[in-house]
Amino acid sequence: MKVLKFGGTSVGSVESLNNVKKIVESISGEAVIVVSALGGLTDKLIATAKMAAEGDSEWLKEMDAISLRHHDIIKNVVSNEKQSLIKSAVDEHLTELKRNYEGVFLLRSLPEKVLDVIVSFGERMSSIIVAAMVDHGKRYYSPDFIKTEKWYGKNIADRKLTDKLIKETLGKLGKNEKAIIPGFISTDSTTGEITNLGRGGSDYTGALIAAALGAEILEIWTDVDGFMTADPRIVKDALIIDHLTFTESMELCTFGAKVIYPPTIYPVFHSNIPIKILNTFNPDAPGTLITDQAQQDDLEVKGVTSLKDVALITINIKSFNDIKDPLKRALNTLSRQAVRIIPVANPDPYTELNFAVTASDAEVSLEMLEKEFAPEISSGKIEKPILKGNLAAVALVGIDMRSRSRLAARIGHSLRRQGINVEAYSAGNSDTTLIYIINQEKSDEALPLIHSLVFEL
Ligand code: ASP
Ligand code: MG
Repeated sequence: MKVLKFGGTSVGSVESLNNVKKIVESISGEAVIVVSALGGLTDKLIATAKMAAEGDSEWLKEMDAISLRHHDIIKNVVSNEKQSLIKSAVDEHLTELKRNYEGVFLLRSLPEKVLDVIVSFGERMSSIIVAAMVDHGKRYYSPDFIKTEKWYGKNIADRKLTDKLIKETLGKLGKNEKAIIPGFISTDSTTGEITNLGRGGSDYTGALIAAALGAEILEIWTDVDGFMTADPRIVKDALIIDHLTFTESMELCTFGAKVIYPPTIYPVFHSNIPIKILNTFNPDAPGTLITDQAQQDDLEVKGVTSLKDVALITINIKSFNDIKDPLKRALNTLSRQAVRIIPVANPDPYTELNFAVTASDAEVSLEMLEKEFAPEISSGKIEKPILKGNLAAVALVGIDMRSRSRLAARIGHSLRRQGINVEAYSAGNSDTTLIYIINQEKSDEALPLIHSLVFEL
């Protein structure tokens, strides 16, 4: 059985919804179909909530626009005999949504739990519409079986319970049934309160279901032809990548490719279920296939991406006498705070330490390092850590990257010739990825340069 996930743009207009219908109805037998909210709606739901919380009565206009958009879609895609039924089902949700906004407006505050309820309406409504459109469509309510638990104040999937509940709910579909599932939304396994899997989380809903059911494939239907060798808005001659390994796709996503939500890959990787990226607006394009093993005709280097909003922390060590393994101490400290560390080389960890982190983790990382080395800082053996922001991590992902020292040297040379300073670099941490930390403003210049060197275009 297949699991298909359709993103916001795929369910965002009458035209695209008709494509979805065609794609789903061409599947013989049973399938699970996960859908996002109508394109752009989640952003709109959040923006409207903020307006209401600030006491801006314009929120009412936004609410009307949300209602109108859903009514319009229903009028154009749902058959006549189902119209009034579907309209009233969606209207019930719209009324409840409006009541939530009224509460936020009156109290002038937007607690996180209320925002979670508000954003849940997007997928709740889109799934009703899609289920009404496709032959053999039957809607299931994912918060009943996608469960989360708290982890450092964040909601993460409760895999064990979710696995069990998915099997119970979707394990035996009717003949030819297409189970339509709202993506993204979930409930807390202890309190039952509505939660979600994070922005972009519908992909993850698809992956959890595919893994629990042992699906033959997870198809992610989106608005691009697949993963590309670079962001085509920045690199004009970027190419579609036919095939990636799970690890490569994970690295591309981690370093800025916005094709799938990174956590998606873990559950399917673990169960060895292939992922295929396909385009709802160009369904005949071959797409990108992701599996566990490299294929014979794979490109050696798959792509170049850049992750913005990176910071670099440097610690200068004046005298290393009596300081035991400063690198290890620093890494332990950072990992205790669940800081996301972008690997960079530390060629001489007894004179200088470098850590690249995302901008959002920069302040806490700096604080933790200052605390960890407080005795050495006060005795003058170590200088206070220095933070440099406004950087980007440019990553090259492919096979056997550790051994590509000639390519790495050529890239370093070309960047310098172009006046782009490499602040830190990593070639040895992973076999899949080379990383260059550069000035963020230069990354749109560096990407085409590196791309042309690698792909010799
Ligand atoms: N609608 C949610 C979002 O925009 C989830 C998703 O589309 O995957 O983040
Ligand atoms: Mg979306």
